[in-house]
Amino acid sequence: MSQPSDRPIVRLRPKAEARALRHGFPWVYADELVTDRRTKALAPGTVARLEDAERRPLGTVAVNPASKIIARMLDRDAEAGIGVDWLKVKIDRALSLRARLYETPFYRLVHAEADGLPGVVIDRFGPAAVIQPNAAWAELQFDALAAALVEVTGVETVIKNGTGRARALEGLAEETRLVQGALDGPVPVPMNGATYMADLMGGQKTGLFYDQRPNQAFAARLAPAGRVLDVFSHVGGFALAALAGGAAHALAVDSSAPALELAQAGAAASGVAGRFDTRKADAFAAMETLAAEGALFDLVVCDPPAFAPNKAALEAGLRAYERVARLAAHLVAPGGYLVVCSCSHAADLTRFRAASARGIGRAGRRGQILFTGFAGPDHPVLPQLAESGYLKAVAFRLSP
Ligand code: SAH
Repeated sequence: MSQPSDRPIVRLRPKAEARALRHGFPWVYADELVTDRRTKALAPGTVARLEDAERRPLGTVAVNPASKIIARMLDRDAEAGIGVDWLKVKIDRALSLRARLYETPFYRLVHAEADGLPGVVIDRFGPAAVIQPNAAWAELQFDALAAALVEVTGVETVIKNGTGRARALEGLAEETRLVQGALDGPVPVPMNGATYMADLMGGQKTGLFYDQRPNQAFAARLAPAGRVLDVFSHVGGFALAALAGGAAHALAVDSSAPALELAQAGAAASGVAGRFDTRKADAFAAMETLAAEGALFDLVVCDPPAFAPNKAALEAGLRAYERVARLAAHLVAPGGYLVVCSCSHAADLTRFRAASARGIGRAGRRGQILFTGFAGPDHPVLPQLAESGYLKAVAFRLSP
């Protein structure tokens, strides 16, 4: 628990822009803060009082001298006490939004900065929850965070998932462990009319990609009684939703055998296993093979991992998105549908859409855009932080 009286003070440099912070921007970059010896010596995650160059208070921040984001705004009140009670208020606010939006307790409960808990991601799976403490302060206060989560939500099982790129940028080591309760294999998750199986301990990210929910729901409407190809399927996100929506058949392609096993288990749990197949393969190779076999689908969905995770990777990433769209367009039956997705921060919607359209054109096809989707409302976006709007899904109808 950090009380205002025993807190160090950190100060913006004279030229640093305090207005953005006052208007809700949640970060201070390392070159904006006076980094004297005392500030540099603060332990990563220390809670401090932030002042502008004229010593006016800006708020309560978490400092990490080892990170480019040297301070993250925790509270605009410079006198806020940061502990279990404060965490409970934030989690309760996040919970009330999800409780309004969803009928069952399966959702992203906390989406970091946009939910007022910088760097903290919490996905809820009914009576279980997975916490990703991706900032040093959350690592330091992890026990309080888990306690607040249990008190507010009543979850019985808590998992700490300390994987992911963001932790390395904060100087944090990888660690995944069961913190509380028990876990008896993969957890069934009802979503989009299907049942998905999520591996909360050993799976990718927290076990399931909740962010695609609205886009899976839209795509499912495009293929009633049709043939579906779900490329980069993970546990069958798009395929199982489409099958639950009445698709005749779906083929899921992924390079991860464990993900495809979970997809099969999900298909069985959804009662659609007889209409579902998987293929473990590199997606690019698999799409070429399918084209060589003359396969055609009424709906093809491609949801690859982030090909442009940062600005340096942008050009190569856009070429990869173009290639995905080109290979996929060859597999779309005349008048069929193609849904392409990107979860790259660096590739914005305009660039991603242009790259996808180029790929479709190079496949000798034309299209109309039906739908542009983003992450669902359990992934709120802070208007000051464009980066938090990372996911794009664009649905095309291709020419006959
Ligand atoms: N569409 C999924 C999420 C996909 S995440 C959903 O709706 O839930 C991206 C997936 O791509 C991961 O499952 C990963 O295993 C897979 N993947 C990454 N590189 C791949 C490659 N070269 N070929 C096939 N699959 C790949």
